[in-house]
Amino acid sequence: MALTGAGISAESGIPTFRGAGGMWKRLRPEDLATPEAFTRDPKLVWEWYLWRRGLIARAEPNPGHYALARLEQRAPRFHLVTQNVDGLHERAGSRKILKLHGDIWEVRCTGCGLERRDERLAFDEMPPRCACGGLLRPAVVWFGEMLPADVWQRAERAVAETELLLVVGTSAVVYPAAGLVPLARRSGARIIEVNLDETPYSASVDCSLRGKAGELLPKLIP
Ligand code: NAD
Ligand code: ZN
Repeated sequence: MALTGAGISAESGIPTFRGAGGMWKRLRPEDLATPEAFTRDPKLVWEWYLWRRGLIARAEPNPGHYALARLEQRAPRFHLVTQNVDGLHERAGSRKILKLHGDIWEVRCTGCGLERRDERLAFDEMPPRCACGGLLRPAVVWFGEMLPADVWQRAERAVAETELLLVVGTSAVVYPAAGLVPLARRSGARIIEVNLDETPYSASVDCSLRGKAGELLPKLIP
């Protein structure tokens, strides 16, 4: 099983939340990716998401994404669990993906609850509205919101059964996703971490590889 975070897409040119490059108009992601921010200023939040959509649309998957897609082909019981919303794992060929934090290319109506794919990079009306008149929001999980229950349960089940967990490019501070790491440990899995920097788990994993995911993953999964 692999658990990925924003770091795996960093080499594709998509800024992470923590560390340099995550800022937009001097606003912090933690102050934009919240239900409160959307209630206060849905247009501002949508402008940020459209900016991120534009960056992602211009980006390509990198060798780290492709290595995990190869692993899925070779290991039938492999599970990919991601905190990313960018869709680069799919574009690299991964098919079985548990998206803990949703998908930036999907929208949900705050009125009728309808969810659908919508890949527009601009809307005629800002903030965009559903046919029912309700405000549309990005179908992603914001800080303070619950994870989709079915996806989370499947991730927990996968982690309980895994023999080896690869933790790639995540600062491992966003819960409950980060909780999958100690859960794997308790179930007896070996854990390999791939990260540019030290994380709260670096000292306790079986192997902590310091470096870029796009360089290290192709070596682990040639
Ligand atoms: P994070 O921004 O908190 O941490 C990124 C981690 O990646 C850091 O530990 C950093 O050291 C590491 N890193 C940076 N470049 C790397 C590289 N080239 N190779 C390996 N590691 C590298 O990201 P997070 O832990 O995923 O948590 C942030 C939340 O924000 C997530 O919930 C996610 O949904 C969201 N997010 C998603 C995207 C995306 O979809 N691409 C981008 C930013 C944030
Ligand atoms: Zn609606």
